Amino acid sequence: TKMVYYFGKTKTEGKGVGKDLLGGKGLNLADMTSIGLPVPPGITITTQVCADYYKAGKKLPKGLMDEVHEGVATLEKELKKKFGDNKNPLLVSVRSGAAVSMPGMMNTILNLGLTDESVVALANATSNQRFAYDAYRRLIDMFGDVVMEVDRDHFEHAFTAIKKKYNAGQDNEVPAEGLIELCNEYKAIYKKYTGEDFPQDPMKQLELAIEAVFKSWNTTRAVRYREVEGIRGLLGTAVNVQSMAYGNMGQDCGTGVAFTRNPSTGENKFYGEFLIDAQGEDVVAGIRTPQPVAEMSKWNKTVYKQLLEIKDTLEAHYKDVQDIEFTIEKGELFMLQTRNGKRTGAAAVKIACDMVKEGLIDEKTALLRIPANDLTQLLLPSFTPESKKNAKVLTIGLPASPGAAVGTLAFTAEEAVERTHAGEKVLLVRKETSPEDIDGMHSAVGILTSTGGMTSHAAVVARGWGRCCVAGAGEIEIDEKGRKIKVGGKTYKHSDVLSIDGSTGQVMEGSVETSEPKLSGDFAKVMKWADQYRTLGVRTNADTPKDSQRARDFGAEGIGLCRTEHMFFEEDRITSMREMILAETEEDRRAALAKLLPYQREDFVGIFTAMKNLPVTVRLLDPPLHEFLPHDPKAQKEMAEMLGVSPAKVKSRVAALHESNPMLGHRGCRLSVTYPEILEMQVTAIVEAAIECKKNRINAMPEIMIPLVGTAAELSLLRSKTEETIEKTKADKGYSGQLDILIGTMIEIPRAALTANEVAEYAEFFSFGTNDLTQMTFGYSRDDVNTFLPDYTRLEILPTDPFQSLDTTGVGQLVEMGVTKGRQGRNGLKCGICGEHGGDPASIDFCHTVGLDYVSCSPFRVPIARLAAAQAAI
Ligand code: ADP
Ligand code: MG
Ligand code: MG
Repeated sequence: TKMVYYFGKTKTEGKGVGKDLLGGKGLNLADMTSIGLPVPPGITITTQVCADYYKAGKKLPKGLMDEVHEGVATLEKELKKKFGDNKNPLLVSVRSGAAVSMPGMMNTILNLGLTDESVVALANATSNQRFAYDAYRRLIDMFGDVVMEVDRDHFEHAFTAIKKKYNAGQDNEVPAEGLIELCNEYKAIYKKYTGEDFPQDPMKQLELAIEAVFKSWNTTRAVRYREVEGIRGLLGTAVNVQSMAYGNMGQDCGTGVAFTRNPSTGENKFYGEFLIDAQGEDVVAGIRTPQPVAEMSKWNKTVYKQLLEIKDTLEAHYKDVQDIEFTIEKGELFMLQTRNGKRTGAAAVKIACDMVKEGLIDEKTALLRIPANDLTQLLLPSFTPESKKNAKVLTIGLPASPGAAVGTLAFTAEEAVERTHAGEKVLLVRKETSPEDIDGMHSAVGILTSTGGMTSHAAVVARGWGRCCVAGAGEIEIDEKGRKIKVGGKTYKHSDVLSIDGSTGQVMEGSVETSEPKLSGDFAKVMKWADQYRTLGVRTNADTPKDSQRARDFGAEGIGLCRTEHMFFEEDRITSMREMILAETEEDRRAALAKLLPYQREDFVGIFTAMKNLPVTVRLLDPPLHEFLPHDPKAQKEMAEMLGVSPAKVKSRVAALHESNPMLGHRGCRLSVTYPEILEMQVTAIVEAAIECKKNRINAMPEIMIPLVGTAAELSLLRSKTEETIEKTKADKGYSGQLDILIGTMIEIPRAALTANEVAEYAEFFSFGTNDLTQMTFGYSRDDVNTFLPDYTRLEILPTDPFQSLDTTGVGQLVEMGVTKGRQGRNGLKCGICGEHGGDPASIDFCHTVGLDYVSCSPFRVPIARLAAAQAAI
C-alpha cells in the first residue's frame, strides 16, 4: 500500500484521502494546495505507517524511505533546490499530525537538511548569513530536543549567554557572528549529551526525525492528553515533510497564527497575532510579544489583504471557522496549516447562527456544529455588575477563555489536583502552562498565567474545555516555591482568594459575587431550532420548587424524577422520620408518618405549582432506612435525647438495620411491601397536594413512580395499594373531580427489563433508572467504583465510565428490550430515562434510537439535552 502522498504544484495525491490516513494537518495541506492556496509543497506519510511502526516493534516499515526519497526528489524538481546541496539547499520541516488535533502534543522540527556545509550554501544563496545560522541553531535545538531528548534548557542557557555577550535584547538582534558561535556551542552541547556528532547527512536527519514523530505518539503527555480528551481508536500520527518557508530572513518576513473569527466570542472578525522576523513557534512561545493581525496592514498591506481573501476562501471551502498558521517570506505569503477552530460554547452558538444568516450553512448543520456539552459554558455564572463595580482589580491580563472563577491559589498542577480533590476550589497560577499541566488545569476552576498570549497553551486548552482563563497577566510576579504572588505591591499567598474574569481579563481581590446567565438572542434561537428538529421530550430531575422553576426556564417539559427522600433530611422532618424508623408498632409508625405528611404535601404543592400543566413524576421512598439514622455514638445519643428514648435503643436499631449490601437490600418498593403505611402517606400527600392545586386552578399532573421493581407481582400489589389510597384520599377530601394520576415504575433491575411485558401490565409508564441498572448489570457498586474504574478505562477494558455514558452494547440492550417488551405488554407505554445518562449527549442519541419518549436530566443539562436530542434526530 501507498505510504507517502505528495502535495504541491506537480500533483496533489492526498485529495479525497481521509484524515484517518493523512491526519488532519496532512489532509488540509493537500486540500489547501488543491484549491490553489500558496502552500509550500511536501509529502505526508500516513498514520498507517505509524501503526505499522509500532506493530513491527518500533521499526520503520521496509520501503518507506524509498518512497520518501521519491517524494523528496519530486520536491527538488518542483523547487529547483536540492536536499543537502552545497549551492541551493532544500530545507524541510517535519511535522506530526493525527486525525484529531492535539495541540502542542507532538513537536515539529524546522530547517531540517542543514549541515555544516549546506548552512554556508544557504548563507550564500540567500546572501543572508544571519538568517542561515539562525535556521541552523534552531534545527540543532529542535532536533536535539525532539529526536535525541537533549534538555532544551542547555540550549536556552547558551543562547542567553550569547545574547548577553552581543548585547541583544531580543533573539533576532544577535548578529551573524554570534549565531555562528552559537551553532558551534549547540553542536558541542549536542555531542556532550548524546555522545554523537550532530548528523551531517540530511537523509539520516530526515529518517531519525520521522521516527521521532512516530515515537512522540506514545509519550506520556500525548497518551495522557488522549485520555483526558477521550480520544481513542486512532491509528497513530501522520508525518508531514514540508519544504520550508522562511519567516526569519529579516524585517520583510514573519509568521503568525489566526482564527477566521473570534474563537472566544464568535464575533466575525479576523483574529490573531503575528511576529516580524520570526519562525515557527516564536509567536506562541512568548519569546517576543506578537502584534495583533489588524496591525499587519501597516506593515504589509498587500499581504494583509491577501490573508483576508484567503480567510474568506477557507471559510467558503470548509464552511466553518478556521484556525490558520502562516508565514511570510520576503513579502510572500505561505499557508502552513488550517483546521476547524476550537471555540468556546458562546462562540460556537454565535458562529452557528451567523453562518446560517450568511447562508454558509443551514439550520441543521448549525445545530450539529455546536458540541452539546459546550452549552454548559453559556449556562455558567458570570460576575454580577454591582459586585464588579466594587471589586478591587489587581491587574488585567488577556481575556483568554470566558467565565468567572473564584478560588484559592495553587502553584503547580499536582497541587491543583490534590487540593481540588480535597474539596477546595483553586485557581491554577502559572507563569505559563505546558502539556504536563493538563491534569491540574482540568482540576482547577480557573487558570491564571503571567506570560503567553491569546494563543498560548493555557488559552487554547482552557477554551477547548470552557474553563475560565486569564493569560499573560504580566504584572503578577509568581513565587512558585514560596507559594505566593505579588501584584500591585501586595502579596497573596496560596490560601488567599482571588476572582478572575475570563471575559475581560480582570484579576480581582477576594471572592466577587457571581450570577446566573441570561439566555436570550442566539442561544434562544438555537434552542428554538433544536425544539423544531427533536422528537425526544426533555424533562428534568428536580425535587425543589426552585430547581423546578430553573429547569422550566431552561425548557424542561416536566419532571422525570422527583426524589422524595431529600425532603426528609431537613431539620424537623428528620426527627419525625427517625421516630418512624424507631417505631415498633404499625400504630407508632403511622403516628410518626402523620407528622411527615403535611411537609410532603407542602413540598408537592410547591413543585406541582412550579411545574403546572406539566407532568411531575414522583418517586416513592427509595433509599434503605439506615441512611436516615446517625452512625456515630455522639449523634446517636443526641437523637435518643430528642426522641426521649434510650441511646441503647437507637444503637440497637441502627445495628438491626445494618446490611451487608445496602444497595441490594431493603430499599425501594421493598420498603413499601414491608411498611405499606409509608407508601400510603406519600401517595396521600401527592393526592392532597394535587387536589389543593386544582382548587387553586393550578393544573397539577403527578405521576407516581414505584422504584426498584423486579417482578410484576411486586408492582401489582403496590399498584393496588396506590389506587386504593388515591380513592380513599379523594373520598376523605370530598373531591369528585378527575385527577388522572398515572402509576408507573422504574426499570432499574435487570429482571424488570427481562420481564417488561409482564411488568407493563401494571405500569402506565416506565422510567429507566440507568444508574442502578448499570450498577446491577455490571455488578459494579456505584459508590465503590473509583477504586478500579480508572484502571478499566486506562487499560481500555471499558471505552468510558459506564455511569457517565450509557453502555449501549450491554445495559443498552436491557433498555431496548424493556421498551420493546414493555410496549408489547401495553400499547403506547410511555418510556423515559432518568439516570445521570439522561443529560449525556451520546446516551441521548441512544435513547432517541431505541424510541424513548423522553429523557430527564439535571436542570443545568436541560438545554444540552434539547440540543443533543435534535442532533440525534438530524
Ligand atoms: P503544531 O501541530 O504544534 O501546531 P506545526 O507542525 O504546525 O506544529 O508546526 C509549528 C510551526 O512551525 C508552524 O506553526 C509553523 O509556524 C512552523 N512550520 C512548520 N512547518 C513549516 C514550514 N514548512 N515552513 C515554515 N514554517 C513551518
Ligand atoms: Mg500548527
Ligand atoms: Mg435507583
